[in-house]
Amino acid sequence: MLDINKIRAEYPILDLEMNGRKLVYFDTAATSQTPKCVVDKITEMYTTKKANVHRGVHELSQQATEEMENTREKVRKFINAKSTKEIIFTRGTTEAINLVASSLGEKSCHGDEIILTVMEHHSNIVPWQLIQQRKRIQLRVVPMNEKGEVREDVYEDLFTENTRLVALSHVSNVMGTINPIKKMIEIAHKHGIPVLVDGAQSTPHIKIDVQNLDADFFAFSAHKMYGPTGVGVLYGKEKFLESMTPYQGGGEMIGTVSFEKTTFAELPFKFEAGTPDFVGIAAFGTAIDYINELGIDNIAQHEHELLEYATAEMLKIPNMRIFGTSENKSGVISFLVGNIHHYDLGMLLDKMGIAVRTGHHCAQPLMNAFGIEGTVRVSFGIYNTFEEIDRFIVALKKAVDMLS
Ligand SMILES: *Cc1c(COP(=O)(O)O)cnc(C)c1O
Repeated sequence: MLDINKIRAEYPILDLEMNGRKLVYFDTAATSQTPKCVVDKITEMYTTKKANVHRGVHELSQQATEEMENTREKVRKFINAKSTKEIIFTRGTTEAINLVASSLGEKSCHGDEIILTVMEHHSNIVPWQLIQQRKRIQLRVVPMNEKGEVREDVYEDLFTENTRLVALSHVSNVMGTINPIKKMIEIAHKHGIPVLVDGAQSTPHIKIDVQNLDADFFAFSAHKMYGPTGVGVLYGKEKFLESMTPYQGGGEMIGTVSFEKTTFAELPFKFEAGTPDFVGIAAFGTAIDYINELGIDNIAQHEHELLEYATAEMLKIPNMRIFGTSENKSGVISFLVGNIHHYDLGMLLDKMGIAVRTGHHCAQPLMNAFGIEGTVRVSFGIYNTFEEIDRFIVALKKAVDMLS
């Protein structure tokens, strides 16, 4: 088993005080905290390996390039992609989805249909709506049941001869629901339709094997998996990436350039215009090492125990409503108590040192489906403890008493 106190020692930020109370950080689904080893890697890069990548013949540039390409290989292995050609570095999940939407959208026609689920993050809705405005495509939405699970029965009925793509989240950032994506990908493939998976909430907690899932695209962000901000990944099957046009133009992504004709670089560089965040990418490699050393199954196990304990304790509070009650959940709990406004609860919890998220969590269509404006959300990481949940429960009871 993991020694959580030893793990916590890697995160000086967890020793901070907020509003005079020791911080309890329950907002890992928004961004995880960063262990010292990852921060040290950033410092190492800036102090000893800062040179532009893929350009210089000089030794320093080669070392920086090697750091970046080492991470590409670590990512490949982490998600079990076939080739590093299929690993595109982006600024995050959002940019990865925009890349696919923009590039595939270019080729879409009036009447084409894309299937999404009702629990998508705005980053997996709005990029498709931008294409919708330009090309008059249709978005079709898979509804959910009362537990916050996708309606698999309805899903299959949404496929028509005009369907071009399915885009769905692996894990809901609001409810923690783990969607049965392997099965959903299989159904899409039966209809000959490719699938893009938003893996922003699954990569920190679930072992990903893109070949086993047979995902066609898979997007995720480093900052939610103990890595730095500003780095993300788009995995895409080589056959799709080969046929897609670049999303942005610039340096790094070209073969030759003249004013008459420009050819594009080979994969993956075709999609990486401009100087990448090679410092962040190198540090992301350290974050992947960190997760591998702890063991992603151990991480998931610890978070699951926190989830079960917190859920049981929360349900003892009268008028507690938890949104998302699937048996397959990651460490995320969205809730409301009676008629108390989510913002008021969040404010009072903050006064007691407890950092939670309130609002619509970038998933307004999901809020509409529940008929609410927002929730309070707590989410856990590897560094959270049962004592922190106890403190949260005491604070929550106090806040509820004050507000009812
Ligand atoms: C956080 C998140 C995103 C967006 O990720 P960025 O890092 O902000 O680009 C997309 N989808 C889900 C499910 C998320 O949780």
